[in-house]
Amino acid sequence: MRTLDDLDVGGKRVFVRVDFNVPLKDGVITDDTRIRAALPTLEALLHRNASLVVAAHLGRPKGVDPALSLAPVAERLGELLDRKVTLSPEVVGDRSWELANDLLPGQVLMLENVRFEAGETKNDDRLATLYAALADVYVNDAFGAAHRAHASTEGVAHHLPSAAGLLLQREVETLRGILENPAHPLVAIVGGAKVTDKIGVIDAFLDRADAVLIGGAMCFPFFKAQGHPVGKSLCEEEGIAPAARALEDAERKGCRLLLPLDLLCGDDFSADTTVTPLNGVDVPHGLMGLDIGPQTASAYSEVVLGAGTVFWNGPMGAFELPPFALGTRAVAEAVAATDAVTVVGGGDSAAALAQFGLADRVTHLSTGGGASLELIEGKTLPGVEVLGG
Ligand code: ADP
Ligand code: MG
Repeated sequence: MRTLDDLDVGGKRVFVRVDFNVPLKDGVITDDTRIRAALPTLEALLHRNASLVVAAHLGRPKGVDPALSLAPVAERLGELLDRKVTLSPEVVGDRSWELANDLLPGQVLMLENVRFEAGETKNDDRLATLYAALADVYVNDAFGAAHRAHASTEGVAHHLPSAAGLLLQREVETLRGILENPAHPLVAIVGGAKVTDKIGVIDAFLDRADAVLIGGAMCFPFFKAQGHPVGKSLCEEEGIAPAARALEDAERKGCRLLLPLDLLCGDDFSADTTVTPLNGVDVPHGLMGLDIGPQTASAYSEVVLGAGTVFWNGPMGAFELPPFALGTRAVAEAVAATDAVTVVGGGDSAAALAQFGLADRVTHLSTGGGASLELIEGKTLPGVEVLGG
């Protein structure tokens, strides 16, 4: 994959695609992690005397939508870079072209939300050509969007000298490193709501890992496949067959596939429900499993503490509800404490780490949800492939 070192950027105008798809509440950014994650690349380019045309998407607008303007993002970026960031009122067009043309080295222009253009998600080549006309070279640092072949993540790279930014480079190298050259024991912890979201990841690890630990609601399709009653736990029906197959594969491949030993249950999905600890995994009628129990938490922690490499995606329970955050917290603490290389992906897993104040205690916290899962599954990411990766 071509990187910043392969690109001559001095005095050039650089079209930089970033992932600034931040959460907004009433027009205010509630978490600017994604903006901060792109700063090393933007600063490295500015340091090399480039001028920047920054492109990003926000949400899923259908056409121009003022509620999804990048104005608050441009303002926050200006604060973080400590320099003026001009927001073009449009994505492409005469105004953007003029503003881009007027850029002097060290200046920063941001385009409006690229998804205001219908051609963006269609990877329209005409739009890609218009992007290319705004700059001399292209840098993609939007790892979170690299699994999409869109005009600003893939198409434009066919028209300009191109390379990966520092964040994209680190994400790809770290995640591929786990697959290709991990320190053993390699342990994958997979949780969250749906097994079908992550069965590709489970499969990838059954081939490579020494142990795969299952938590979250996705344990219930496994339990159902084994004949355990699941009560009214969240149990994805379409997940049962893949779970049964994964159990067989694990046996055949000699990978330890660990399921919870005990559970914490509630009457319903709420923070003030009565908590019923269950010694075992047969969930009685009328109850729902909402977290792994303490025996599971300590068994999983022990595996994590003895690992050489840990990949974690998906919480162990409904951690948003305080009584059911214990399992996720225990695993997060083990991930923070182990000497292993630790890589965490997934929006909710990242939020859980942040909630426990442990986000800076892991080796790598991936900024890409879908993109990191697809990379682990061994899929080719269009935004990476076009950069020679
Ligand atoms: P990530 O974003 O880290 O990939 P997911 O989106 O797959 O994680 O899963 C997170 C969601 O799974 C959370 O909203 C959490 O409430 C839910 N969840 C986890 N365990 C359970 C459970 N036992 N019952 C219901 N929901 C659960
Ligand atoms: Mg999620």
